[in-house]
Amino acid sequence: MDKLLLVTGGSRGIGAATCRRAAASGYSVAVNYRSDADAANALVAELKSTGADAEAFMADVSCEEEVIELFSSVVDRLGVPTAVVNSAGIAGKHMDVVEFDATVLQELMQINVVGTMLCCREAARHMSTARGGDGGSIVNVSSMAATIGGRPGHCAYAASKAAVDAFTVGFAKEVGAQGIRVNTVRPGVTLTDMTSEVKANATVRSAVEATIAMNRVACADEIAAPVMWLLSSEASFVSGAHLDASGGGFVIGASTASVD
Ligand code: NAP
Repeated sequence: MDKLLLVTGGSRGIGAATCRRAAASGYSVAVNYRSDADAANALVAELKSTGADAEAFMADVSCEEEVIELFSSVVDRLGVPTAVVNSAGIAGKHMDVVEFDATVLQELMQINVVGTMLCCREAARHMSTARGGDGGSIVNVSSMAATIGGRPGHCAYAASKAAVDAFTVGFAKEVGAQGIRVNTVRPGVTLTDMTSEVKANATVRSAVEATIAMNRVACADEIAAPVMWLLSSEASFVSGAHLDASGGGFVIGASTASVD
């Protein structure tokens, strides 16, 4: 069977790195994006120049009609995906709880949580063997933030990713006998546009790196690699799992640790 991967938020960052790895391993790639058509089209051109089949699809994953249209356009133009990676997401605003704004929270949850769930629903509708599909594999890009309540000012983001984790476990049980595996990858801090301040500011970067066991941040390809492993047949008995790609996880540096 031809391998076809749909990556939401595939135009930049971790999603784009996943598209590159997928194309290099023989997948046709559907690159979803929301607004940056130039980035999506440039990536598609790059993938095509390597001989891969790739196409860009604009859709806001937080909008139900656009998600339905995204999947039906991919099916019409490239076929039913054999794999889906839900990477579309936003960090949201830096806010302490006392500063919370319902509109900002709703946008964050609508994209990170509802968007991921709607894409999983559409994926299941097309892939499930109970509905005439051939099955497949789904990876939801969560975050290590879910495991630590987020860094200061980002507990709402952490909550959105904890919701993705819980949803993934339950969804995996629901579709386990329908030929679909579902897992998460939980990246630690990764250099992308989402973390542009870490990339641009050496002081911020070294403060962040001091909190990571391996004392460094990741590049997007180091997250794409475990994503691709989960999609592959090498992970054929792995479902409902969370794979931490976090450089050993969050630590309090020796210089800041205290016994009291
Ligand atoms: P990024 O570089 O900012 O890229 C975000 C991608 O998502 C872009 O392709 C963007 O498309 C797309 N997107 C955003 N909102 C969308 C929407 N409503 N509908 C469709 N596409 C949308 O981000 P990233 O760092 O690669 O993050 C990817 C995923 O990894 C996110 O879920 C994020 O929470 C998670 N993550 C990131 C890190 C990190 O340190 N970077 C760590 C842990 C987890 P446009 O360009 O068109 O806007």
